[in-house]
Amino acid sequence: MKIIETNLQFNGLRSRKSTRRVIVHHSASSDVPANEIHKWHKNRGWAGIGYHFVIRANGQIERGRPEFTIGAHAGKTGNPDSIGIVLTGNFEIEKPMEAQIDNLVWLIREYLYPKYGELEVVGHKDVMPTSCPGKKFPWAELRRRLEVGPMPEQWKVEIIERAKKAGLITSDHNPDELASKWFVLAVALNLLKVVGK
Ligand SMILES: [Zn+2]
Repeated sequence: MKIIETNLQFNGLRSRKSTRRVIVHHSASSDVPANEIHKWHKNRGWAGIGYHFVIRANGQIERGRPEFTIGAHAGKTGNPDSIGIVLTGNFEIEKPMEAQIDNLVWLIREYLYPKYGELEVVGHKDVMPTSCPGKKFPWAELRRRLEVGPMPEQWKVEIIERAKKAGLITSDHNPDELASKWFVLAVALNLLKVVGK
């Protein structure tokens, strides 16, 4: 996993003194690149894109505003101590893509936590009167996936992906959870269905 550098030009930025939380947004738009949002925000008279990271529909993570600077995404109370991450899409209408949540989890757990410690993760709506990131944003899934231990190794990720594609499990399953006999039986029955096809 990596972050795509965008090398956007900003009109003056201030560095952030404290980093206590991550604030999650949706773009309330179609799948747009960071440089498009950069233009929107410049047109509002801002220094440039207000978010630090943009996660595209295909899961690609693009850099927005430099990470050490104060963002423009959550007002006077939210901006000074937070990192702003926007997922493209409108989650009032549809759920984020699975790749977006996968990479949001990666960005927070594997990239931000090691640098800043376990940051609080909230939505824009938790700091300002807005519906952002939308009523279909999967908070329960995100919270659960931020809690479990270290990220699985690549071979485990591949097994999970293949099992999901084959319809043996769904994305609601926590792969590190102990499996009850019922769960094992259910998977076995699904397996029989798949093999029987
Ligand atoms: Zn927002």
